[in-house]
Amino acid sequence: APQERPFDRVLLKLSGEVFGGGRLGVDPNVVASIAKQLADVVRSGVQVAVVVGGGNFFRGAELQQGGMDRVRADYMGMLGTVMNCLALQDFLEKEHVDTRVQTAITMGQIAEPYIPRRAIRHLEKGRVVIFGAGSGMPYFSTDTVAAQRALEVGAEVLLKATSVDGVYDADPKKVPEATKFERITFGECLRRRLRVADATAFSLCMEHRLPIIVFNLLEDGNIARVVRGERIGTLVST
Ligand code: UDP
Repeated sequence: APQERPFDRVLLKLSGEVFGGGRLGVDPNVVASIAKQLADVVRSGVQVAVVVGGGNFFRGAELQQGGMDRVRADYMGMLGTVMNCLALQDFLEKEHVDTRVQTAITMGQIAEPYIPRRAIRHLEKGRVVIFGAGSGMPYFSTDTVAAQRALEVGAEVLLKATSVDGVYDADPKKVPEATKFERITFGECLRRRLRVADATAFSLCMEHRLPIIVFNLLEDGNIARVVRGERIGTLVST
């Protein structure tokens, strides 16, 4: 099972919620603590790529409900992710970790364009590659981008860091007796209608047999635990 040995190359999806500590904007303390955790992982020799969400700034669907044009709102959402990328880059460099930000919308003054083969070279050199601006395409989510980038750069697993500690048979915030799965198959998630990621991201992972580990980021040291292959969170696989 992929969980019982350390991984060599992982893709970590960080939602925007994490960056904002639940509020609008960036909470430097939270980003600093994530950067510390990531620095430990990188120093242990694991190659780390990160896809950053932007829900702490804007979500296209929400702005659309407020009356905005969806496409323009989605571009605002993508731009929000870039601010999170820069914050993460800053705190990682304070930890003396080399980083590169690559964005799907070109903005040469602050980031490289997304060039997959160059991203892989960075990873091989031990640099953390932070992917921003989503896919550059409206109507997509950063979860879907995380699955796509993981496949394209050859990550062994998609690590989905959240504020709950795995996949449950019911929403643990609403149902106190909900139980957590240690492992579950993609098919079982579908049968039970469990939402591990959005449908596009989920189907990419399922079709290409890319395992997902859902785990709680807010517990210190959890990124290192997951990467070492410890059984925390929930492993979703074929
Ligand atoms: N977005 C987009 N295309 C993408 C990725 C993101 O249009 O490929 C927009 C979309 O509006 C989304 C917002 O960027 O709501 C922020 O991304 P997401 O909601 O995935 O962030 P998260 O929920 O992870 O914080």
